[in-house]
Amino acid sequence: MKWAIGVDLGGTHVAAAPVDERGRLRNTYTRELEAHDVKYVVGEVAKVVDKAAALLGKNAKFTVGVGSPGNIEERTGIVRWSPNFGWQDVPLRDKLEKKLGHPVRLLNDARCATIGEYLYGVGKGARDFVLITLGTGIGGGIVANGKLLLGHAMGAGEMGHHVIRADTGFTCTCGKIGCFEAQASGTALLRHALALAPSFPRSTLLTGTPQADWGSKMISRAAAAGDLHAVATWNAWLRDLACGVANIIAFLNPEIIALGGGVGRTDDTLLAQPLTKLVDEQTVTVPKHQTTIVRAKLGNEAGIVGAGTMALHGIP
Ligand SMILES: [Zn+2]
Repeated sequence: MKWAIGVDLGGTHVAAAPVDERGRLRNTYTRELEAHDVKYVVGEVAKVVDKAAALLGKNAKFTVGVGSPGNIEERTGIVRWSPNFGWQDVPLRDKLEKKLGHPVRLLNDARCATIGEYLYGVGKGARDFVLITLGTGIGGGIVANGKLLLGHAMGAGEMGHHVIRADTGFTCTCGKIGCFEAQASGTALLRHALALAPSFPRSTLLTGTPQADWGSKMISRAAAAGDLHAVATWNAWLRDLACGVANIIAFLNPEIIALGGGVGRTDDTLLAQPLTKLVDEQTVTVPKHQTTIVRAKLGNEAGIVGAGTMALHGIP
């Protein structure tokens, strides 16, 4: 059995695990990141890779696959820019290879998660697949006719920044108004809750919880329990999510759309089922009822599985 080390590098942590030829993981090692300068991050990546490599035994030969946030030129291994880390034109692959002494392949983290979910999660067997991760922002990736789309400048799949409410939307972290991410990410749920608060003066949805504990789960739970403010919030958010998902279907006509990220784990009766209904209503030229919207299966492991798989077999 051949092994690679898959690495998921995020803004707050780095995780690594050995990944085998069939996309199976062994123990995952995680470290919190306390700084974002390149030297420190490379050092922390090396620590988790060394731990994971120890499982493969001494003198084991392997390639390391790394999923990193930002715009990454896969061919050269250069991070063109990464807002999470504040990096610009960092030759991360070369720096990692020097530090680790093993060959490294580097790709955007959301694209790695897409590879993992496509080959070993809910995308298994499909040819046209989209992963949408609903977290702090919206990320994801696109597989069309069995190929992961990278784009001319490695930007394909940045669907979080297509605009769905140019006039009436929330301001996005990117500066535009009404981006899909500003309207339909996990954090967008809170924006909708705040915007609707004046209509529910007696609601305790926001006043009953300390601000530090505000989160998307608080709203989905309250909506499931029938709290009126939370239900209105959830429905407004769901309408915006449906708008973006229907656009993605219009562009790509995928067979499967997987919902990942924290909010993607919400129960089907609250998320996948009502979303499918709203999306079908907004799907016109592309044949209706042809895209299955499902919860992603691999969770946080998708990125590591995808990065390791890329190191073993290349990009699909
Ligand atoms: Zn944006």
